[in-house]
Amino acid sequence: MTTKYLLSCPRGDKLEVDASQAGLLIVCERCGSEVTVPTYRGLASLERAVPTLPAKRRGEWSAKQGLALLGGILLIACLPLLYYTLKNSPVRPTLIIDEVMNVKELDQHPPALVYDLWVQLRDTPIDAEELPVMLAYEDNLEEHARWYWLIGVVGTIGFALVLAGIFLPPARRAPTVNE
Ligand SMILES: [Zn+2]
Repeated sequence: MTTKYLLSCPRGDKLEVDASQAGLLIVCERCGSEVTVPTYRGLASLERAVPTLPAKRRGEWSAKQGLALLGGILLIACLPLLYYTLKNSPVRPTLIIDEVMNVKELDQHPPALVYDLWVQLRDTPIDAEELPVMLAYEDNLEEHARWYWLIGVVGTIGFALVLAGIFLPPARRAPTVNE
């Protein structure tokens, strides 16, 4: 990469010159004035032009890096979500008879009432799946499934973005100026 210097034409336009043009007469592209490029020593005292090509390369790299960064953020965002969802995984309730009726109270009931209860249970067996505690558990499971799905989708997108950021071929090089 040749070092370029900024040479001012008589009307103040900035011209990019390099050492190979030292001592030459060049024409300003904007105003048409002729300017003599200084010798090597004179060039060294000129302001250096910011190299355009590396800047553009950095831009391309940034776009890819941006993709990977976005993907990384998505992936990282998934972690606490996943942790929270796992931590709060619904636990299948252990059904004990206490949830159907209070056994301790049963002792205090007169035998006739206990018999009635037994008859009732015999005639209409309790469907455990219909108990409120089980219905709540099923709802909870469904909600968790939705969360896992969301985490899966976001995580996959994040992963794909990271891969894209790493493996996408670099964008076509921007045309270099006047070369
Ligand atoms: Zn000019």
